[in-house]
Amino acid sequence: MVKINENYLKLPGSYLFSTIAKKIAAYQEANPDKAEDMIRLGIGDVTLPIAPAIVEAIHKAADDMGRAETFHGYAPDMGYAFLRETIAQRDYKDRGCRIEADEIFVSDGSKSDCGNIQEIFSHDNRIAVCDPVYPVYVDSNVMAGRTGEYDTEAGIWSNVIYMPCTADNCFVPELPKETPDLIYLCIPNNPTGTTLTRKQLKVWVDYANRVGAVILYDGAYEAYISEEDVPHSIYEIEGARTCAIEFRSFSKKAGFTGVRLGFTVVPKDLKCGNVMLHALWARRHGTKFNGAPYIEQRAAEAVYSQEGHKQVMEQVAYYKKNTRVIYDGLKEAGYTVFGGVNSPYVWLKTDDGMNSWEFFDYLLENARVVGTPGSGFGPSGEGYFRLTGFGTYENTVKAVMRMKALKRKK
Ligand SMILES: *Cc1c(COP(=O)(O)O)cnc(C)c1O
Repeated sequence: MVKINENYLKLPGSYLFSTIAKKIAAYQEANPDKAEDMIRLGIGDVTLPIAPAIVEAIHKAADDMGRAETFHGYAPDMGYAFLRETIAQRDYKDRGCRIEADEIFVSDGSKSDCGNIQEIFSHDNRIAVCDPVYPVYVDSNVMAGRTGEYDTEAGIWSNVIYMPCTADNCFVPELPKETPDLIYLCIPNNPTGTTLTRKQLKVWVDYANRVGAVILYDGAYEAYISEEDVPHSIYEIEGARTCAIEFRSFSKKAGFTGVRLGFTVVPKDLKCGNVMLHALWARRHGTKFNGAPYIEQRAAEAVYSQEGHKQVMEQVAYYKKNTRVIYDGLKEAGYTVFGGVNSPYVWLKTDDGMNSWEFFDYLLENARVVGTPGSGFGPSGEGYFRLTGFGTYENTVKAVMRMKALKRKK
């Protein structure tokens, strides 16, 4: 009889967003008069429509598909050269990174790549993750049977190395005592909104090269970086070509969460023994992925055009302005806030020793503002709370005013 992959049964339920949805529904039912007035700043999804220059590129690509002379069937596995060359130039060479077009793998978004990358590595590898963490890194390794047993009480896996990122270490992960094989870093970070400077990232690159580990670097929020000393790519750091794989996405930069496009960089210098990881990922990509759609790749190309770039950066600036409103407003009101500057996320300390869920209820009841409890991202997220800049400006201002009033009332 067929047997299932038992590892799937080890996965704890993804209670975070379903619990939030249930609590919101219960509140709406109990308070129908106030439901309308609720502001959701828990969202990790963009809200602005696709920029006009990109919509135009999508229309044009759709027309291409309708004419025999310009019709496109299967795309090349790694992506069209027009896009890979643009990425290599604009995201890498222009920033002084030595990355070539044939080291870039275009995909349908970076969640798939972040989740799939682990399969080119041995089952015996140990992973290290920041705590709190974007759940995909851990769960994809649970499915592969790499994480050991789950301790429900503590919310941790026995065979995962956790690197706490809290106010105590200024959200900078410390080198782990036990040596990991795979190190997941999300910079700028979801959920904390904090980041690493070049100097801080260099410590990790040197460490990985020294111990023979591979860094899996998720740069989904690269477009939100404002500070000079924050690297836009791990390849700005000397030595990264021999220890790092980088994931990038058009989702948060250009509003492609529904369009779906991303890419992964595997440098040809990155080897395990004498095996190039580039060759393994190329093989996986070619076997299990049949190329990202032509229309989407043309849309992504337009993100780099003069008009497209200007328009998407205006959208990013809009979200950043919202984030600023949250960060500055809450700080002024006396909240302890982190992140925000190089990301669309503000990470705040909950009030008066409330735990993350108590603060969620408190904020919903008293300010009709919805955020995300930090404990949903890992044990070290307890006592923290995430708000995002992805709402509308008007709602963001209103939410912050309510949170300020709440603080005054106390
Ligand atoms: C949103 C996000 C992504 C991007 O995922 P896509 O599949 O490209 O939409 C990747 N990593 C993190 C941490 C994210 O928050």
